[in-house]
Amino acid sequence: MRRLRMRQDALVTSDTERSSAAIYRNVKAFTADPSRPWAPAFAVHGGRFLVAGCDEEVTAAAHAASEEVEEVDLGGGLVIPGIIDAHFHLTSTGESLQRVDLVRARSLDEIQGLVSAHAKANPNLHWVLGKSWLFDSVPGREPTAAMLDDVESTRPVLLDANDFHSTWVNSLALEALGITDSTPDPAGGRIARDASGRATGFLEETAAELAWAHLERETTSDRHRQHLLDAIAALHAVGVTTVIDMGLGPTSIETIAHAEAAGELDLRVVGHWLMSREGPTAQHLAQVSRAVELTHLHSSDQFRMAGIKFIVDGVIDGCTAHVAEPYTTGAMPDPIWDYEALAPVVAAADEAGIQVALHAIGDAAVKAALDAIENAYRVNGTGPSASGPNGVEGRRHRIEHIEYCDPADIPRFAQLGVTASMQPVHADPAIQDNWRAMLGPERSAHGFPAAALVASGARLVLGTDAPTAPFAPLPNLFIATTRRSALDPDLPPNEPKNALPLSDALAYATAHAAWSCFAEDRLGSIAPGRHADFVVVDPDVTESDPERLLDAAVLQTVVGGRSVYRKG
Ligand SMILES: [Zn+2]
Repeated sequence: MRRLRMRQDALVTSDTERSSAAIYRNVKAFTADPSRPWAPAFAVHGGRFLVAGCDEEVTAAAHAASEEVEEVDLGGGLVIPGIIDAHFHLTSTGESLQRVDLVRARSLDEIQGLVSAHAKANPNLHWVLGKSWLFDSVPGREPTAAMLDDVESTRPVLLDANDFHSTWVNSLALEALGITDSTPDPAGGRIARDASGRATGFLEETAAELAWAHLERETTSDRHRQHLLDAIAALHAVGVTTVIDMGLGPTSIETIAHAEAAGELDLRVVGHWLMSREGPTAQHLAQVSRAVELTHLHSSDQFRMAGIKFIVDGVIDGCTAHVAEPYTTGAMPDPIWDYEALAPVVAAADEAGIQVALHAIGDAAVKAALDAIENAYRVNGTGPSASGPNGVEGRRHRIEHIEYCDPADIPRFAQLGVTASMQPVHADPAIQDNWRAMLGPERSAHGFPAAALVASGARLVLGTDAPTAPFAPLPNLFIATTRRSALDPDLPPNEPKNALPLSDALAYATAHAAWSCFAEDRLGSIAPGRHADFVVVDPDVTESDPERLLDAAVLQTVVGGRSVYRKG
């Protein structure tokens, strides 16, 4: 018997009756489907979209799919596809939710005050952990253990910098980490020392990674699980339904896989194995083989391993990104992966048919990354139109961050079919002073060239790189579309010539992000056959002032047709 049930409650989905179809009408749906970008209604069945279109079409499709049809009136609300954060770190974001956030601290006094209050409020923590302090807030941009030793004298303190490429510890933390004055710098990293050779409490790149690995070893699997669940809940509340995780290791893979097996993974995760720079090429090639195995082991639409990730260089704030001309400080560091080390490993991954993602922030690193991909195509006889996984066109290798690259290299992204993965939130004017000072005005004028990349025909995708930055997508889109600050909107915009139209930016955070991980036929748009991942947003940010992106609310988040978050 055909049954029609009307629901006036605007925020309901067919949670329990998975065999029934649901019609969502009286909506303004941005579909991110170029063939039909807007629709007044859509229908869902079996966790997937049936169709988006006019009432008649949607009604016909729903009744053809199921005997039982539920109707939901969304009161004219804006619906967008579930956001895909194209560059994310899932378990570390969950862990960071417990840390004291220092991004708004503007002086050492403020940092010390926040850390002290956090320490007092959490007497049971073994470590006092913080995140996101800015170099500009530390005297001489040189943090030292001594600055923290008086703040917390009984427990180790570890505070990650806003760039997540360096960390600042107190003396007890140096001791707990086993770092002494005679500990040598690890390859690709630096233990900062004073004139007399004493470790001062600042750890860069792979030296910071040693500290993070230590913390990870001290964390129980129960805690890892809790971090993951905390991150998922926080992502649902802001409308994110998929993340591309750009740095998975054995522990995080195990944590995510366990959650999937336990039915706790209400989020889609596409993962990249984080390559270790340690050892010779043979060891790097063995990591590629392991990553290929992982793509076979984890291949569901809930958790899928897609490829590998290199951290080719550092970051501009710390003058560790690989640049062609020296920083204004005179520094000109080597990359972590030089072209000679990179090229054979990128070629092996390309030949094996897995995706390569390259963190490359300085112009010289971007050039080396593009060169390595071009070399891989040459030696493998592949190319941007060679088939990728499942015979779909394109290798879809990607360069992560895109902060400063040689304008002459911009056309190479489209030519090589390389995805440009950018985090607008890193271009927030409130955190750009040091960045711009390190590069100088001429190079800064080319910072975060979003519109220039799009104009060149490149595929652009947006993410946040959380926990290095806040992960709420609507403020991230505010920065992308205005180049103004989400932290202090009164600041002048950051190179507004690279602002993007909002509907384009939304597509880069949904449909294009799905394309970037070979999921455009399953994710990223409100279109037939795609998983029914969508978000109800209030107010309609596509018609209000851009400022409304900063305070708009996510009313509901739906993953696979199932409501996973409702406001209030
Ligand atoms: Zn990252």
